[in-house]
Amino acid sequence: MIILVVNAGSSSLKYQLLNMDDESMIAKGNCDRIGIGGHISHKTADGRKFEADCEFPTHTEAFEKLVEVLTTGDASVIKSMNEIDAVGHRIVQGAEVFSKTVLVTDEVIDKIDELRELAPVHNHAHALALRACKNVLPANVPQAVVFDTAFHQTMPPKAYMFGLPYEDYEQYHVRKYGFHGTSHRFVSAALAKAMNRPLEELKIVSCHLGNGSSITAVENGKSVDTTMGFTPLDGVLMGTRCGAVDPSAITFVMEKHGFTPSEMSEYMNKKSGFLGVSGVSSDNRDVNDAAVAGNKRAQLAATMLTYQIKKYIGGFAAAMNGLDAVLFTGGIGENSWEVRGGACKDMDFLGIKIDDELNRKTRGTLTKLSLPDSKVEVWVVPTNEELLIARDTLALINQNK
Ligand code: AMP
Repeated sequence: MIILVVNAGSSSLKYQLLNMDDESMIAKGNCDRIGIGGHISHKTADGRKFEADCEFPTHTEAFEKLVEVLTTGDASVIKSMNEIDAVGHRIVQGAEVFSKTVLVTDEVIDKIDELRELAPVHNHAHALALRACKNVLPANVPQAVVFDTAFHQTMPPKAYMFGLPYEDYEQYHVRKYGFHGTSHRFVSAALAKAMNRPLEELKIVSCHLGNGSSITAVENGKSVDTTMGFTPLDGVLMGTRCGAVDPSAITFVMEKHGFTPSEMSEYMNKKSGFLGVSGVSSDNRDVNDAAVAGNKRAQLAATMLTYQIKKYIGGFAAAMNGLDAVLFTGGIGENSWEVRGGACKDMDFLGIKIDDELNRKTRGTLTKLSLPDSKVEVWVVPTNEELLIARDTLALINQNK
């Protein structure tokens, strides 16, 4: 069973081809600069590579190119798209409409497109890619859509409501949705397996820390609260996103700078976070290097992040009335011993004690970091959103056979 996983952004289309017989990656790549030129980079599991500048006026041309690269030339891996059994798409915003993975129909694509108001950068791009995929693929190839928000649809109203007039929730659907759900679902299940405990009995704080970061309270396998909100801007400090800020500071800054709403959005999404605070970079490695070299603002950005992570771990432990495990994933969570170490420092009152030596050595591998006498287990769990999308797609197809 071969499944193609597609992750479309506004100007990019990432893909991965998986053999679900052994869950191995066959090939992966990225079409980017859609609408402003075009470029494809592609590599196969056996090390063949293809790279080229292209003309991608829309997602359709990008999809046609990825079909060409997968099926022809030196880095091809299949003879025709007929060998693909199904396609799974990552969709950022499913709002309250989609609480699980569904098969793609014209109505589903239209609904995803209609939700674009809630995810302006992503949902329209997803709809374009879904339509492009439908046009290019043989008609009998089933497609599924897996939503970033779906995992968080189990949050209770006390967690997802904002203290704004209720009418705006009813009329405009203003509430916390949460994101990275595919990752939180994948890693919390992988953690339960590693701990050899049923997921349905565990209280987990899942820290997905990357360029975008979110932390989720997973109780008995369900998301009960999470840090990202109406959009992926809320929560902890991120690469270029500000995370949680007093809303009055936002209106104050808007007035001072004379910003329009979209200019303010750009300021909060692209110019803040690590980049805005440190003035050095949005990248954790650069900020960390600058901090070690003595840059005070970089030191501040680094400690702000670890402090905020600690607060959410403590807050979510209180929300769940207990904590069995904390897990770290994402580019930072899997690789940065500094961030993990900072977040777990002085947390012994909560039952968190990690092996500092092991923490320093651990990069990108499933590892238990906590000491034997730590009440709470602490783990690094590598995420694999593509694999979860492919698994979901496969399960749905089998269900509908
Ligand atoms: P992601 O968005 O999940 O790809 O994560 C990107 C973030 O991970 C960037 O801030 C990187 O600096 C950080 N990152 C990746 N590799 C490392 C590493 N070896 N050490 C520290 N941070 C890393």
